[in-house]
Amino acid sequence: MKIAKSQNSVCRLCKKEAKLCNSHILPEFFYLDLYEEKHRTLQIAKEGEKIIQKGIREYLLCQQCETKLSEYEKYAKELINEIPNFSRDDNLGVLYSENVNYAKFKLFQLSLLWRSAISAHVAFSQIDLGPHEEKIRRMLDDKNPGKASEYGCMLSLIPNTELINNIIQSPTRFTKKLFGHTAFKFPIGNLTWVFIVSSHKLSPWMRELFLQESGMLRVMISRRDESSEIMKLGQILQGFGRSF
Ligand SMILES: [Zn+2]
Repeated sequence: MKIAKSQNSVCRLCKKEAKLCNSHILPEFFYLDLYEEKHRTLQIAKEGEKIIQKGIREYLLCQQCETKLSEYEKYAKELINEIPNFSRDDNLGVLYSENVNYAKFKLFQLSLLWRSAISAHVAFSQIDLGPHEEKIRRMLDDKNPGKASEYGCMLSLIPNTELINNIIQSPTRFTKKLFGHTAFKFPIGNLTWVFIVSSHKLSPWMRELFLQESGMLRVMISRRDESSEIMKLGQILQGFGRSF
């Protein structure tokens, strides 16, 4: 449900009355290039009201919940930076690590999805989780990462990128179902996060691509390259009558 809240209100996560923090919807670290001083960040919303924008914020969480989620973010930031150093399986076309903290990274993934769902900002308008929104809120509030098959996320990486590392596109819902499941896509820099939000039975290959309770995380190496992504973005921006 997308409801705008005033500053002193009810925390959307713990549901307690509190002074709310002006929270980022997507974690701040996604907007920072570690290797560049001059930050270039584009936020592209299909509606086109504002296509270039740095971190979007809203009053959503109390300080306690903000701190809780920031612990997962801290872990996720370190892990994401490590992805290029993961082991490589060329047969499967994946990078992988067997040492991922399941609870922390899964709760991070859930927080990404959930915060986008509760945001009232137009850039997140396609993320509507229906009854799953409340289920995920409870999981986050209880620090319960759930099973690997619940709200799993498949990650893919576009290798050898420079230009798109700081480009954050609005998350979208797959117009057709993805192999029979409702799915949402978050293209964030050179990583794409695809969440499966479904109560139906998942095929085994799909489950294998989710973060595993054992600590196994596979990241698909995308066959797309940076130039085709830039072309695609160029077309979107041209649609708004702007140059890129
Ligand atoms: Zn709270």
